[in-house]
Amino acid sequence: FTIPEPKNEPVYGYAPGSKERELLKKAIQELKSKELDIPMFIGGEEVRTGNRKRIAPPHELSHTLGYYHKGGREEVERAIRAALNAKELWENMSWEHRASIFLKAAELISSKYRYELNAATMLGQSKNVFQAEIDSACEIIDFLRFNVKFMEQIYREQPISSAGIWNRVEHRALEGFVFALTPFNFTAIAGNLPTSPAMMGNCVVWKPAETQIYSAHVLMKVFREAGVPDGVINLVFVDGPTAGEVIFAHPDFAGIHFTGGTSTFQRIWKTIGENIAIYKTYPRIVGETGGKDFVLAHHSADTKALATALIRGAFEYQGQKCSAASRAYIPSSIWEEVKNYMLADLKEIKMGSVEDFTCFINAVIDEKSFDKITGYIEQAKKDGVNIIAGGNYDKTKGFFIEPTILQVQDPMYVTMQEEIFGPVLSVYVYQPENFEDVLTLVDKTSPYALTGAIFAQDRYAIDLASKRLRHSAGNFYINDKPTGAVVGQQPFGGARASGTNDKAGSMLNLLRWTSARAIKETF
Ligand code: GLU
Repeated sequence: FTIPEPKNEPVYGYAPGSKERELLKKAIQELKSKELDIPMFIGGEEVRTGNRKRIAPPHELSHTLGYYHKGGREEVERAIRAALNAKELWENMSWEHRASIFLKAAELISSKYRYELNAATMLGQSKNVFQAEIDSACEIIDFLRFNVKFMEQIYREQPISSAGIWNRVEHRALEGFVFALTPFNFTAIAGNLPTSPAMMGNCVVWKPAETQIYSAHVLMKVFREAGVPDGVINLVFVDGPTAGEVIFAHPDFAGIHFTGGTSTFQRIWKTIGENIAIYKTYPRIVGETGGKDFVLAHHSADTKALATALIRGAFEYQGQKCSAASRAYIPSSIWEEVKNYMLADLKEIKMGSVEDFTCFINAVIDEKSFDKITGYIEQAKKDGVNIIAGGNYDKTKGFFIEPTILQVQDPMYVTMQEEIFGPVLSVYVYQPENFEDVLTLVDKTSPYALTGAIFAQDRYAIDLASKRLRHSAGNFYINDKPTGAVVGQQPFGGARASGTNDKAGSMLNLLRWTSARAIKETF
């Protein structure tokens, strides 16, 4: 049994008149025509509590997509029991068997569920067609296929043996259960966080963000159909504090795979620290959190490429990516040109429903985000910041915020420092001769270190930035936007306040979900 050499899943274009566009439109209509009743899924059983919560598209609040059943402590406890019960069977299955299950999940998404999963992501999370395709089709398929390959490499790598001595390393699953706490912004991340520990033989309690339940439900359907045994991945819908109270107080808690906010992650880490003596084993803490990702331009930059990267990096998926370009440093010598290119691009950009495939901008995820983002915009207006684009918003039909560009005078202004997680780009214009000082500024302005980009044609500037910003970003881009990492090509993750940097979609990540036993046998 050899795992096929993975290739990145091709990205469909959904051109007007194409078969794929027609099929996707049909999937959207089908989903919209029914109101789903979405259960939790625990130990192979659908669980309905009757405490139903409505799901609506963030861009069309009047429409009901369905309802999910909300659980509480009892369901979390049940999910933990189910995970612990399933564990023995699952970890003792051969890794080849587990691999073939996840390869099948990838295949099912590629050939059977692609349209449904994309449609669910588009409607439930307000993602446009292209953003959905690279996420809920390509990236999740890539995560599954590449991780299975990395898994094979881990299991095959063995120490040296000699005549009469047989040495081996067993990559055991962790002792206990793993908790996957997943975000709304990528269906692929929501799928990767429970499946990567599961590949390594762990059983998982998976709590998706409330705002991603609609597509999480489709993923769960895929996992079941692919043959993930009952109890291996348990999907619960509960609020964070309730889940935390039960999970972090459990002696069998063995690890958390997290993507979400920095303060939540830090709170979790503290709780785990406080409870450390009750656990059987030191829990693995793996998390990707916030970012305040920079784009730094040198005066030698290609201005057109820079402007395009800023627009795409800052505004794709309404800026709701941890990797989004949110602070830019541009020399005054090229600023007018870059600004004009950006304003010309913005003129072409439409905002509206995901069902109109020409809309680049859709809604932000929920009212809480809307209020937070618009709060920063209002603050900037009060503080007299120069708003060079956007600045308007409206939540009557959905949570719409115009792509907004702020030109700040103070490089330490609040929008240069804090993560906004919305379509707001702050630009600081500097004197070209101060490039070296700006490198220090970029590094010191924020506690995060997720992604960053340098735009320059001058090799010396590129090398200097690359060296001086060594710790400022876990994913560093030279003459490209800081978003859109591709599995197998740019393993993704950041350090400092941005996370533990256990690169998603890499062997490094999978190794966190095992605990090795070295065995020496003589004969
Ligand atoms: N991997 C994504 C990217 O490179 C970002 C993931 C995130 O937002 O957490 O754009």
